[in-house]
Amino acid sequence: MPGQAARGWAMKHALSVTRQQNFAAWYQEVISEADLAEESGVRGCMVIRPWGYGMWERIQKLMDAEIKKAGVENCYFPLFIPLSFFEKEADHVEGFAKEMAVVTHHRLVGDGKGKLIPDPESKLEEPLVVRPTSETVIGAAMSRWVQSWRDLPLLVNQWANVVRWEMRTRMFLRTSEFLWQEGHTAHVDREDAMKETMRALEMYRAFAEGPLAMPVVAGEKPENERFPGAVATYSIEAMMQDGKALQAGTSHYLGTGFAEAAGIKYQDKEGGQQFAHTTSWGVSTRMIGGVIMTHGDDDGLRCPPQIAPWQIVIVPMLRDDDGDAAVLDYCRELWRELGALSAFGEPVRVLLDTKAAKASNKRWAWVKKGAPIIVEVGPRDVSEGKAAVLRRDRLYKDDGKLNTAFTPKDDFVAQAAGMLEDIQTTLHSEAKARLEANIAREVTDLAAHFKGDEAKFAGWVEVQWARPTGAALDKIVEQLKALKLTMRNTPLDAAPVDGKCFFTGEPAVERMLIGRTY
Ligand code: AMP
Repeated sequence: MPGQAARGWAMKHALSVTRQQNFAAWYQEVISEADLAEESGVRGCMVIRPWGYGMWERIQKLMDAEIKKAGVENCYFPLFIPLSFFEKEADHVEGFAKEMAVVTHHRLVGDGKGKLIPDPESKLEEPLVVRPTSETVIGAAMSRWVQSWRDLPLLVNQWANVVRWEMRTRMFLRTSEFLWQEGHTAHVDREDAMKETMRALEMYRAFAEGPLAMPVVAGEKPENERFPGAVATYSIEAMMQDGKALQAGTSHYLGTGFAEAAGIKYQDKEGGQQFAHTTSWGVSTRMIGGVIMTHGDDDGLRCPPQIAPWQIVIVPMLRDDDGDAAVLDYCRELWRELGALSAFGEPVRVLLDTKAAKASNKRWAWVKKGAPIIVEVGPRDVSEGKAAVLRRDRLYKDDGKLNTAFTPKDDFVAQAAGMLEDIQTTLHSEAKARLEANIAREVTDLAAHFKGDEAKFAGWVEVQWARPTGAALDKIVEQLKALKLTMRNTPLDAAPVDGKCFFTGEPAVERMLIGRTY
């Protein structure tokens, strides 16, 4: 992070709090200053503003294409799920019980004192749960849709909102209502279902590393962190700039538990009845929080070009005089030329910002929003055939001045697509270097390593372990909890084990990442 003293002309950054001063406050400030989201008045429920929702739409578009490429079809299931559907799967209902919003009445009535209360006459025979996840209701449909081995695999996905009554909420990262996609698939056997579980995990890994420029570690969650009712849960974990982990997506192998609960049975080739093996996998608006905490700096968000609603913003410097028409004409021409380009295999998204505001205010608004390239055009640029180009990933020069490149317009048009792709790569490499530099593998004393307040950047620790279960695992979880630590996942591409379990001293069987988490 560049020091403020080096700023020369600009002693201050665009935000009032730096990451180093207070990471949590910085995060909130980025969200409000970049117009991403705001509080709604209902705890844990946020209003997603156009710039934030635009990022979500980009995520949806790109992820949806990947989902469809894998042969998964979109569908839609109801928001309300009968409570009895959950009760069929004991672990599942227990896991979600504390987070479920429940509808018990369908009508209100006056209490005679000017207040509305649930009409006792309208009490539902069976409470309806506002979906926290849809395994149960999709399972019920699958039981109707699947009869024979020929009906498998059955691959569906839905884009929806879900509600989980979270106690500690934080915008995007953990909200009570969030937007997500949930994939649900049914297969003939374990092997085929595991293949799908790992395909979805790899899709998420590649998506995070690609469009989000957010490096992640893909691996299996420990038993205590499994999705309620799952046989195995896999995740991608990203490292935020404060060293904490963010579980950015999950893929579950559900075995036959949900199929048994919902009656997803099929006739096999020999004529016998078999339960299907199912999977589910999801990513949510949490990914936007991950992008902010991975790429943001003390001037706001730095939005990876692939998910930026606008990749290039042109800001005309108008003076309310006769010269304005020529500036606007020049900007329109530039806008047309840039819009005809393509980057990442898609048309470049260019905005000509003609809002009535001072050009420098508009520039800083786009800096805070993290538009990848900001181009300013004034009368002098028009007469010289140039444009003032600012790359959001290289905002300042070494002397602290803005790193504006006065570039001949045609040269800029020729470079723009490549520049966007370069910004995407630069953001990824920066974050990748940080992730790699902050996984400690030689730690012998977790308490010492993570000593200090939570604001201390401690990264993650990788240990070897024996994959203990039951009481032995519970003990480790408690020990870690006392240090405010959790096990993240066992990286799939970890080096082979060659030692003893960090916790039990038994021969290690795999490696496990430990860290503080969001
Ligand atoms: P799950 O169905 O629990 O595996 O959740 C799927 C994904 O949704 C998780 O990996 C998270 O990325 C995300 N997620 C879970 N809970 C929340 C929440 N309260 N707010 C935002 N995203 C969430």
